[in-house]
Amino acid sequence: MQIAQQTALVTGGGSGLGAATARRLAGLGAKVAILDFDLARAQSVADSIGGVAVQADVSDEAAVEAAFNQAIDKLGSAPRITVSCAGIGLAARIVGREGKLSTDVFTKTLQVNLFGTYFVMSHAARAMADLEPVGDSNERGVIINTSSVAWQDGQLGQAAYAASKGAIASLCLPAAREFSRSGIRVMAIAPGLFETAMTETLPDDVRTAISATIPFPSRLGHADEYAQLVEQIVTNPFLNGTTIRLDGAVRLPPR
Ligand code: NAP
Repeated sequence: MQIAQQTALVTGGGSGLGAATARRLAGLGAKVAILDFDLARAQSVADSIGGVAVQADVSDEAAVEAAFNQAIDKLGSAPRITVSCAGIGLAARIVGREGKLSTDVFTKTLQVNLFGTYFVMSHAARAMADLEPVGDSNERGVIINTSSVAWQDGQLGQAAYAASKGAIASLCLPAAREFSRSGIRVMAIAPGLFETAMTETLPDDVRTAISATIPFPSRLGHADEYAQLVEQIVTNPFLNGTTIRLDGAVRLPPR
């Protein structure tokens, strides 16, 4: 699908990978709605790209539905491109010091990362199904979810995060199969380590040590490199139902 003149919605678009994606899609001529927890940050990115902003906690389905309705009103049509970048990266041992369990971390992580992605995908697919097909492949839309390399290489302390990201990778194929009759593709991107707010608090020595584990290029990814892959997925109609690692060949060590 060509990106120019299309409508798009990016969750977590007020920061990091989502903001870079919103900027790239807008730069290619799409009208972009930015959905984020923090409306002021979403509005600031929206203002810089001529887009629109909506607020929601993605783990609250009613809030996601209301935000979709607002985005459709503001964009003038349902988004043909939906990219889910909203997510959190909590870390905890399953059984912590003195036997303390981390079920609260597990629950919160699944609620935001997995349920949030599922709610956004559900509302996106339902709204896209009413659009007219476009392009040579008669597509109605593309949904791109964000997994993580922790999907396959979860480190110590990442049980909740890896479970949430593994589930996002696993739902890609059945969702693509289900929505194929509507001409809607579903893909997931599994990033390695990227320079964003999620990683900026890492001490310099940890960042240097992490960079050394990335074969090539030996550095953290740039958010626009994630956005470049979003562009390729949207414009290449044969990409469907799979998860692509974007990681400089990194394989995370156990801890
Ligand atoms: P980021 O800069 O922290 O951006 C995430 C955005 O999502 C923030 O604006 C955040 O808002 C928002 N958000 C968090 N919880 C939300 C909720 N419940 N409802 C709505 N918005 C919410 O992080 P990022 O690095 O761009 O991460 C984007 C995605 O990539 C995440 O799913 C992350 O797991 C994944 N990922 C990142 C990396 C990496 O190295 N950066 C690697 C692999 C996967 P607040 O700041 O207000 O909470």
